[in-house]
Amino acid sequence: MATFATDKEINASFQQDVHLGVNSFSAVAGIEDRDVVPATATTEIFGRFQALKTLLHPNLCEYVEIVKGKHDRLFVVFEYHMNHLGELYQSSGQVSKLGISMLREWAFQILKALAYLNQNGITHHNLAPHNILYDVEGRIKLADYGLFYMTNGGVDVDFPIGYPHYLPPEAIYRQVNKPEATGKVDVWSLGVILAEIFTGSPFWEGNDKDIEKLFSSLWKLQEEEEHNDDIWEKFFIWELGINEAILEFLQGTDDDDIVDFRKFIRACLKVDVSNRCSPEQLLSHPFFSSSYGHGLSNNYKYWWKKPFLQSQQIDFDEESLFEPVDDQPNKDVLHRMPLSQIYYFWKLAGGDVETELAKRGYLLSTPPIERIPRTVKVQDGKEEGTTEDTAFLFSDTIYTLSLKELRQRLEVATGPNREAFEWDTDYFLLIDEDDMNFLVEEMSDNDNSGSGDEVFGKYLFPDPNNHKVTSSSTNGQTTPPTNNVKLPLMNREKDVGYQFQRVALFSELLRQYPASRDEIIHHAKVDIPPFLRGKIWAAILGVKGDYQALYDSFKKETETTTDRQIDVDVPRCHQYNQLLSSPIGHEKLRRLLKCFIAANANNKLVYWQGLDSLCAPFLTLNFNDEALAFSCLHTFIPKFAQDFFLSDNSPVITEYLAVFRHLLSFHDPELSSHLDRIGYHPELYAIRWFLTLFTHVFPLEKTYHLWDKILVGPPSLPLFIGISILRQLREMLIKSEFNDCDTFSESFPDVDIEKCIQSALSMCKVTPPSVIYRVHEPFATPDTLHNGVPDHHIQRWWEQPIPINDKKTELAPRISLKDLVKLKNHVLVIDIRSEQEFSRGHFPLSVNMDPTQLEQFAHALRLENKKYHVVLGKRGDLGPQFAADLVRANFPRVAVLTGGIDVMRVDPEEGVSVCACRNFTSGSKNGTAAYRKCRICF
Ligand SMILES: [Zn+2]
Repeated sequence: MATFATDKEINASFQQDVHLGVNSFSAVAGIEDRDVVPATATTEIFGRFQALKTLLHPNLCEYVEIVKGKHDRLFVVFEYHMNHLGELYQSSGQVSKLGISMLREWAFQILKALAYLNQNGITHHNLAPHNILYDVEGRIKLADYGLFYMTNGGVDVDFPIGYPHYLPPEAIYRQVNKPEATGKVDVWSLGVILAEIFTGSPFWEGNDKDIEKLFSSLWKLQEEEEHNDDIWEKFFIWELGINEAILEFLQGTDDDDIVDFRKFIRACLKVDVSNRCSPEQLLSHPFFSSSYGHGLSNNYKYWWKKPFLQSQQIDFDEESLFEPVDDQPNKDVLHRMPLSQIYYFWKLAGGDVETELAKRGYLLSTPPIERIPRTVKVQDGKEEGTTEDTAFLFSDTIYTLSLKELRQRLEVATGPNREAFEWDTDYFLLIDEDDMNFLVEEMSDNDNSGSGDEVFGKYLFPDPNNHKVTSSSTNGQTTPPTNNVKLPLMNREKDVGYQFQRVALFSELLRQYPASRDEIIHHAKVDIPPFLRGKIWAAILGVKGDYQALYDSFKKETETTTDRQIDVDVPRCHQYNQLLSSPIGHEKLRRLLKCFIAANANNKLVYWQGLDSLCAPFLTLNFNDEALAFSCLHTFIPKFAQDFFLSDNSPVITEYLAVFRHLLSFHDPELSSHLDRIGYHPELYAIRWFLTLFTHVFPLEKTYHLWDKILVGPPSLPLFIGISILRQLREMLIKSEFNDCDTFSESFPDVDIEKCIQSALSMCKVTPPSVIYRVHEPFATPDTLHNGVPDHHIQRWWEQPIPINDKKTELAPRISLKDLVKLKNHVLVIDIRSEQEFSRGHFPLSVNMDPTQLEQFAHALRLENKKYHVVLGKRGDLGPQFAADLVRANFPRVAVLTGGIDVMRVDPEEGVSVCACRNFTSGSKNGTAAYRKCRICF
């Protein structure tokens, strides 16, 4: 390759696009004298890799993803550029010479990158000409810099990291009494590389076969350093196999032009680590300040925008890094797209790194690499270590992933003939976080028994706010109608065109967050693109402000009484997950839990088993942003698990389960009474459901989908999801006796989450808010559901909360008069007071009967064909008991009117007045007077 001198020339000859590169390696192969198990090492590497994804520097290739393949083989996906400094070496074994100014620019950029790595606790340790890449603008891009870090300094792998020709003596002969100086290893490598390129000569004589000579030379260098101040001036240095051209340059004194450069290289090549500068220190070397001034590296502009929360702190030393770059029209659909997103779409378009590399036969073509014996310097100067061939474990060959097919797919998805997706906003329209309204207008005639899936055509509880956002997209374009509405969620998630549009929509919305929060929630009700899930969840939950400072403000190290339990639970929490099973994952989860306890000490919240599971979705989605994971958890719990983590949480849980039981009776009386009869109560199975919002019973992949809906739903949605789960398994449950129910949870893998959500929403739509009212539920008050304004009048007897023991015993729920009035066209009110009382005043169109005569009149009641059945009694009578009888007789949607007839007399403003007609029709065939019906309208 020709020598290049200027940036312009470099720019001219390269393609415009970026590439994704992959290389592959295996963790330790289980060599006997190592105490690291391969699978464990793999998991550790997997966990450490995550931090590499957060590194962002103009002179570093971005790490994109790590993938575990068969036999624990790891595949690392990263930003790749086709050109690298190694090309300078390819002309007949010689290195191409280059001018000082080019080298100065490169040295500066490389040191910038190395200093940035050091700040993040990372040493490259693997620097070589072929992994110093440069992009189309000639900007240096270091690759492979994370291998040493992710393998814990090479401990987790059985191949050497680093190229001996570029490593300093201390990297080969680790001195027992000297800790390895971070970053300085790379300074040596840089010195060697620059000296080679300047002189046009390899640093070391000979080739790879002379590796033993190289090692002994490095040994000699290290030994002599102890007795010599300036080793490069000494005579013995000529005997070490260093090329003459290199030594002549290092020892030269004549040429003034290069005097600073020579000093710089000599500074890099200090044999004694304690005298060698760090990358950071070298940045202020005179070499960079002399004639060149501040003209260095004007190209520290950030080159694409990532979606990030506005409140997210961006900490970067380069002020200009996030200056917007001129947005020129570019036809490449991948232009300015974050690499992680490109990779994500690449997978959706059918890509898979392992099969991709297998197709190209990577296992056959693994080149041998130079080997470093693992040696240590021991006191008598002997070397100890292993020299087994471990090259098969590692390939430094980089494969690029073809993005051709992805481009084609996306061009179709964005082109003029693109597939139009209609966001099915109706799907979840009703549910809003403040949706507690009950404005029944009309119901379809679609009849359902309690055991079918109620999908009434119209919403019983429309959200009056749900029209504030129209279904047109944010670009102002009206979404055209299309045929592929309501594709199953799984299909939508796998459709690259659909996801492309969803990610674009949400990326834009996230950029406008928090102003766009309502719109985010609106669109999230349709579905949430998995790629942005972590950030979208945070936006829905309303996380904002300096959440990092919030997280930092809590002490996470204080010992608490629950530490031991946390230590037991953390290593058992979703361990099939690569992130959570890694040691780093354990540390993070532990810190999050400790932080939660510290943050809620004043709320008297404690650690209960299950909190770990509840944390897991947030941690896995925000693995590199603990503070965000914490803030999500912190806003999530008050909404969906309020007081579940009180040290005495039993009143809260007991009430929650009682309401759950009522709901089951309401929607599936047959199943409810069956479970009641066999004694299989919610206390036995449902506590962990609600305490962990189902994360304990479903794998994370299912939990994500469930939570996508829970987050945009009302706080009661989990209750309905619980009912849906039971009803999906009802066929099995209805045949079970108590002892058979132990195997109940084995059926959980069969639960269809999407169906479960649909059914939960359908039930939610037709359930009056008062039925699910809980004393411990945040945001709700018993009789002010209509407009949210609390009533200040003195509480009447029916406004007192039902004692928890009564609530727990009752099989059917209570309903408020307000809700009853809204339902009046669909409800059969069954008045169980005496005939005398009935005739003095009753609910219009209600029937009056003796509650002991249910068997006799059940048929007549069914003939009324109403969707809801409300029992009206008076204080202290048999209402709840009769309601339970109705449930056992499989009447759907049975409830007891709160306050009975008294509430009707007191609250005439509810729009229904007590009827006092006297000429009842008799509903009974045998003419007895035990069944009467108010005859208004008949
Ligand atoms: Zn009447």
